[in-house]
Amino acid sequence: MKPHPVDEYGLAIRPPDIALECDPEFCKYPNPYMDRQHVYHPAAEYKTPEEKRLRRCARFVVRMCRCQHEEWDNAYAPPPKPDRDTIVAFNRGMLSPAPNQTLE
Ligand SMILES: [Zn+2]
Repeated sequence: MKPHPVDEYGLAIRPPDIALECDPEFCKYPNPYMDRQHVYHPAAEYKTPEEKRLRRCARFVVRMCRCQHEEWDNAYAPPPKPDRDTIVAFNRGMLSPAPNQTLE
């Protein structure tokens, strides 16, 4: 498993080799793209209100096919939980991603 890529703040970014869409003709699921990937996992590690807020932020909940979601989880370790100061700053809107470092 590869380490999960992060931005300059230590916030998770989408691995460049993971696509959000698959080819529906070859997908093993009946409804491609309908899954939601919580990038920050496992959920049990996000306990405090600030941590839960980070995990639920739209930036870290990605709509994508489950087949691509599985590829992501199989190829990359869970992203490291950012340190507390980073989480609080992010939740206050003080950290914006660089244009080329968003998840979607
Ligand atoms: Zn698929």
